[in-house]
Parts: sequence; structure tokens; C-alpha cells
Amino acid sequence: MDPFQDAVRRLREAFSSGRTRPAAFRAAQLEGLSRFLRENKQQLLDALAQDLRKSAFESEISEIAISQSEVDLALRNLKAWMKDQKVPKNLATQLDSAFIRKEPFGLVLIVTPWNYPLNLTLVPLVGAIAAGNCVVLKPSEISKSVEKILAEVLPRYLDQSCFVVALGGPEETKKLLEHRFDYIFFTGSPHVGKIVMTAAAKHLTPVTLELGGKNPCYVDDNCDPQTVANRLAWLRYFNTGQTCVAPDYVLCSPETRERLVPALQNAITRFYGDDPQNSPNLGRIISEKHFKRLKGLLSCGRVAIGGQSDENNLYIAPTVLVDVQETEPVMQEEIFGPILPLMTVRSLDEAIDFINRREKPLALYAFSNNSQVVKQVLARTSSGGFCGNDGFMHMTLPSLPFGGVGASGMGSYHGKFSFDTFSHHRACLLRSPGMEKINDFRYPPYTPRNLRVLLMAMEERSCSCTLL
Ligand code: NAD
Repeated sequence: MDPFQDAVRRLREAFSSGRTRPAAFRAAQLEGLSRFLRENKQQLLDALAQDLRKSAFESEISEIAISQSEVDLALRNLKAWMKDQKVPKNLATQLDSAFIRKEPFGLVLIVTPWNYPLNLTLVPLVGAIAAGNCVVLKPSEISKSVEKILAEVLPRYLDQSCFVVALGGPEETKKLLEHRFDYIFFTGSPHVGKIVMTAAAKHLTPVTLELGGKNPCYVDDNCDPQTVANRLAWLRYFNTGQTCVAPDYVLCSPETRERLVPALQNAITRFYGDDPQNSPNLGRIISEKHFKRLKGLLSCGRVAIGGQSDENNLYIAPTVLVDVQETEPVMQEEIFGPILPLMTVRSLDEAIDFINRREKPLALYAFSNNSQVVKQVLARTSSGGFCGNDGFMHMTLPSLPFGGVGASGMGSYHGKFSFDTFSHHRACLLRSPGMEKINDFRYPPYTPRNLRVLLMAMEERSCSCTLL
């Protein structure tokens, strides 16, 4: 028995009917998303608090406001994004119309994780709707309270013949992946990313994979340790460290490490008080399984700050580790929790070498008062995104693409990049049925003279020719 067969068939029929293509339909669905966010804001904040004990402040900025601004941006730009994009022509096509049409792929599957369960579900959905697709949305089964709202409330704001929320965990997702989709957008772990890509390959379905990994953060000796520590602590402990773009580990000299540890302690106490377990601003680990995994990582190296945990309420203290070996588990896997190892290196070159010996990360950060140092890190490494003297902030700009490279993923989204991701870029050339004489040059019998004329006419720069 396949629980998704009927839904997939219905959505395919809806797409074939052409219903999702007009701008007015897309705008109406986006308006629906906007109302969903506004009318259910408190319910969403409560659900995020239940799932992750996320503070309303963090939920507002990282889940609700980001989703809302993506909806607003898409609504403001929908018509412009949908317009055919004229392209330069050569002499041979000078009288024709050449353009890129952004057409919807058709039926799209979006599979999402639990750590930002609203943002990571709605932001891709905005792009898929704006591009005119039908969508099966598969939120994470682990962030249960948000999943419930997405399943029970969201569909009331959308055309249910075109958008379906599918429920379940790994087994259900595998079943879903057996179906043929026209595009799959997956956010989650590299391990499951491979499962998704393997399933997609069976149908030659294109994919975007938004994955994770270990994001390095280089801290130069030439910096103000307290400023760096404030920013690092906020980035690492935001959402209890369960953030794909959080700095995963720091690389710095032994001297900078000695200055960073008290500054980090200072920042942690300022943010979360003397006992962070009582702070309303610090969340909790999503599940017992993740808690146990993180607790295991606390025994790597030496605890310089924090290190406490309480299984009863899935609490792990904001922690800083030092004297960690590269071979220890905390440096082998994505931490995805409130633990920050400080690794020491002797020079910028050694830091860059350390970074380049590993998989390309989703994000890379460098802190220095010397802009040349930041620029060197940028120039000599590769990552999905980069931010100098801060973290995350690059992904708050919808004018920048968000996505990974290498093991941290493929493809990107946010803002117009989302619209483009969910659109097939169709190459179109509309020629005149007349003026057949011009084509004589390309027909046999082939002659050297005709070849010369044709090659000239096909050069792109020949479009500036004043002959026509
Ligand atoms: P996950 O890969 O375990 O799960 C993601 C989704 O896949 C869920 O909907 C889940 O139901 C489904 N799934 C899980 N196991 C599956 C299987 N065996 N077969 C088919 N489907 C399966 O990821 P997670 O634990 O929910 O999220 C954490 C990971 O996501 C981290 O690696 C993190 O870095 C990454 N992440 C990446 C981004 C990004 O934008 N690049 C954002 C957030 C999280």
C-alpha cells in the first residue's frame, strides 16, 4: 500500500491542467502563505518553543521574519521574475526573438529538517510556488509541534489540489522518493542527501541538496577578543548550536586562544547568566538521541567553559573545549550543538591548510582587524558562503545565494535564486517563417565562401554588426 500514490497523481493532474501557471494564482498562494504566518504567529512561536525551547526572539528573527520577508520579496517581484529574459543575438538571428523562459518544473518534492523547521520549509516553498510548481512538502517528523501545524493549518491557506503536506520519517520519505518528481529540494544531513540523490537518479530528477558539515572559523591575532567572543558565542549558541551555518570550530594561535577563553566566558555569562540552564534565552537539544551524541562529544579534549548537561530536560551548557586532537569525534563530525572547540595553529598558512584538507564547508568565517587577512582566507579557500568578521549574516541577504559546495551541497536558493532554482530555464528562439533566401548559406552544396559567411554570422560579437 503506497500512502502517497493518490496525492502524487492528483498533483500531477493539477499541474497538467495549467492551474499553477498564471501569475495571479501564484500570487494568491503567496498571499495565503503570508496570512498563514500572520494569523498563526503565536501558535508557531509556541510550537517552536515546544520543539526546541527556542526563545520568541530567536524564533521571530530566524523563522518567522525570514519566511515573511521571502514571501514579501516574491510578491513584489513575481511579475518581473516571470518575464521572459531577452538575450544577446548574433547576426544569423538578428531578426529573431531570443529569450529564456522560466517555466515551472512541474511536481516538486521538498524535504526538510528539524532545526529551523518553519524557515527551512517555507522559504523553499515560496520559491516553488513563485515558479509555478505543484509541491509535496515533507517536513521533519522530529520537530513534531511545527510538523503538526504545517500538516493541519498550512493547507487551509493554500490550494489543496496543488500543495500537499506529507507526513512521516525515513521510511515514509523513502516511499515518497520512489515516485517520479520533476525536482527534489532536500535540506538535511549529507548521509540522507546521498539517499535522496540516489533515488532521484533513478528518474533523472534534478536536485538541490542543502547539506551540512563543519564550518571553520579563523580568528587572527590582530582582533579585539571580546568583540570576536561576543559574535562567536551568539553564533555558536543561537538555537542551542543546532544551526547548519554555525561556526563549528575555531582556528587560532595559542596566544589568541588564551585571550578568547575568558572573553567567551564573559560573553556566555552576559548572554545566559551564571547558570545558563535557568536562562530563558537558551534552548534545548531536539531529542534524546542528539543529546546522547552531544554528551559523548563533551569528553573530547579538555572543557574550558561549561561542560554540564542534564538529560532530564535535554540541556547541554554552552561549552568551549580546548586541547582537542583532530582525530577526536568532536573534530570528525558536524557538532550541531552548543559546543565550540578551539583548535590552535601556528600561522594563517597552517589554518588555511587545515581548512583545505577537509570537505568544503557550507560556511566559512574569518575574524581580523586586518582586512588583508580576511581577504586571504576568502581567496585561498572554498565554501558555500563566506562572512568576514561575523557569521550567518551573509544568509540574511536574499540578494546572496544560499547553498553549499562539494560535500556541503549543490544548488542554492533565497530571493530570486529560489525562483530560478525551481524554474527550468528554457532556451527559446522564435524565427520568421519567411526570408528563406538568407538560409541558402547553410544548405548544401557546401562552399568555402558560404562557410566563411556562416561562421561570421554565428559569432556572438557579430550582433553589433551594422549590416542589418
Ligand atoms: P536528516 O538528514 O536526518 O533529515 C532530513 C529529512 O530527511 C527529514 O525530513 C527526515 O524525515 C528525512 N530522512 C531522515 N532519514 C532519512 C532516510 N534514511 N531516508 C529518507 N529520508 C530520511 O537531517 P536532520 O537531522 O533533520 O537535520 C540536521 C542536518 O541538516 C545537519 O547535517 C545540518 O547541517 C543539515 N542542515 C542543513 C541546512 C542547509 O541549509 N544547508 C539547514 C539545516 C540543516
